[in-house]
Amino acid sequence: MKITSLKGIGIKTAQKLELLGIKQVNDLLFYLPLRYQDKTKISKICDLTFGQTALIEGQVQRTYLINTHKPMLVCEIDDGSRTLALKFFNFYYSQRAKMKTGSNIRAYGEARYGQHMIEMLHPEYQHFDDTPLPLQQSLTAIYPKSEGINQSTIQKAMNQVIKLLDEGEITVEEFLPIEILQQLHLPKLTDALQYVHQPPATADSNALISGQHPCQQRLILEEILAHLLAMKQIKQKIQTLYAPELPINDAAINKFCKQLPFQLTNAQNRVIKEIHQDIAKNHPMQRLIQGDVGSGKTVVAALAILAAFRQNHQTAMMAPTEILAEQHCKTINNWFDGKDIVFLSAAIKGKARLKVLDKIKNGVKIIIGTHALFQKDVIFSALGLVIIDEQHRFGVHQRMALRNKGQFESLQPHMLIMTATPIPRTLAQTAYANLDISVIDELPPGRQEISTLVISNTKMPQIAERIKANCQQGEQAYWVCTLIEESEVLRAKAATDTYEELQQWFPSLNIGLVHGRLKSNEKNTMMNQFKTHKLDLLVATTVIEVGVDVPNASLMVIENAERLGLSQLHQLRGRVGRGNKKSHCVLMYQAPLGKIAKQRLDIMRHSNDGFLIARHDLKIRGAGELLGSKQKGSVQFRLADLERDKPLFQKAQKLATDLIVQYPQICQKIIDRWIVAEADISNV
Ligand code: ADP
Ligand code: MG
Repeated sequence: MKITSLKGIGIKTAQKLELLGIKQVNDLLFYLPLRYQDKTKISKICDLTFGQTALIEGQVQRTYLINTHKPMLVCEIDDGSRTLALKFFNFYYSQRAKMKTGSNIRAYGEARYGQHMIEMLHPEYQHFDDTPLPLQQSLTAIYPKSEGINQSTIQKAMNQVIKLLDEGEITVEEFLPIEILQQLHLPKLTDALQYVHQPPATADSNALISGQHPCQQRLILEEILAHLLAMKQIKQKIQTLYAPELPINDAAINKFCKQLPFQLTNAQNRVIKEIHQDIAKNHPMQRLIQGDVGSGKTVVAALAILAAFRQNHQTAMMAPTEILAEQHCKTINNWFDGKDIVFLSAAIKGKARLKVLDKIKNGVKIIIGTHALFQKDVIFSALGLVIIDEQHRFGVHQRMALRNKGQFESLQPHMLIMTATPIPRTLAQTAYANLDISVIDELPPGRQEISTLVISNTKMPQIAERIKANCQQGEQAYWVCTLIEESEVLRAKAATDTYEELQQWFPSLNIGLVHGRLKSNEKNTMMNQFKTHKLDLLVATTVIEVGVDVPNASLMVIENAERLGLSQLHQLRGRVGRGNKKSHCVLMYQAPLGKIAKQRLDIMRHSNDGFLIARHDLKIRGAGELLGSKQKGSVQFRLADLERDKPLFQKAQKLATDLIVQYPQICQKIIDRWIVAEADISNV
């Protein structure tokens, strides 16, 4: 049944709905309420609590304007229990005229404490005479806002659809097996849909408003399942492809490890084993390594490279910044005796680039670089392994592009993805359901907690003392400029200004400067000088945020730390504390601090644990943000909420696995119902 067969839905509205994937009357049923309004009962003003949204009634006591910079209309009403002020910044004078003393008003809004009395800002309201207004029989469903479609249109259309469903004129297919629903004490789909669109008068309104009613949970479960099934389907599809077998023996591993200046941790050994097991098989590995900043992921990657290297296959390792890619290139170069390695970034141009491309085509074994690696004219000869470092910095498409490079004798490369943005388990299992996950949950021995200080930027002299003392002890420091400007030019300028200022503060120190505007070789020279301790203090923009590894640096000052998010602060701070030295991080802020900024800085001060910090970040910012803006859409749910629905996410994991085995034919149906044209939701 076409959506236009509903009264009130014309061609124009239908076109707008189609953009949301709604074409048929049935589809509209899955346009689900975002929240509810409770207009079933009148609350007494004296019973209202702060932040409560409620329906109230009262008699107008007086109506007046107050003139701040903009006039505001105030109407005080009293219900016999107390007086409340209705306030309006935007109003018509006719509105004021109607609010006569002694007349009756019903209002719906959020109660807040005002200066003199409790108040509601911009409430919905209605006038009424002696005859009382009728009350709603049930909670009112509020639908997500959508360009050009208003609430009442949707509500009216939905009333018709629910009636059709009720009368059996339309039906929705139940996909979840009845025994599973019974086991979980969840209702059938039809019942759940009817309930959430039109909750009965007797409904548990608290449960509904907080999204925890079984009828909502029923729908949420199916949404989560659809997501998991789609991801797992991608994983299975890739599993049917073939990859080169890259086995490696213990002798080779031991020989490689002997030359390292340290012993691998148990966690590193365990993860390396998992990788080696995967890549010895003839299907592509799809593994994500999570490990906190400084947990030693690079050497794990190197041991994967070793396997490919020994089997005469190429490895492409991609890093999000040029500085990091350069650093990896040096490190790996060292460990592989400078054999068979090339570097490629956008900064390599002209003849030099052609030379590199030629080597790649002719089978050079290790290729390290930036995004430049997946440009069209980069042709590999035997790509066996793709490693992506700090994957949260890359978009889905970039990763896909690199995977597609592996056309060698129709074999796909193995894929190793590394991230230092640890995310909570539930989120990881959901966002990366298409990947196997390994966790390096141990830091190398001897690491000391970084102690973090939060200081107002008016205390520069104190901070200067710290920097001096630190550098006089033969240790190094970073000074991070955080100007959040779109323009790299402005960022560079701010860093340059700071650099000049710091040179005046510290005439005896060797100070360097890196920012995104420097030429590639200038950046390299600067980083090398810092690495080899020719510089004491490095002034930098957030270009050093990821990956940079200079173990002798033991102090970091971050300017205007209040501007940065938690995971970014944690990443930045991870540039120190990489050796055995006691390290410090000074978070400078510009007073006054907002509530969230203060909360963030407190968390940083109290914790060094990336997982814990990520959990807080999830609460503050939500899942989409946490996974990085480039991946928005990869885990976006219409209904499900990672925090609130944690138990359901856990149940869904097992259920998804069972469904694939026991009811494969319904999996696709569930996916199709919930996932609208999102073919590339994967993290492939
Ligand atoms: P990340 O996980 O942040 O990428 P890196 O791979 O850069 O960490 O390693 C951080 C530092 O720790 C490097 O200087 C590296 O050489 C060192 N490192 C790695 N593994 C160990 C280990 N098992 N013991 C001691 N130091 C290690
Ligand atoms: Mg790293």
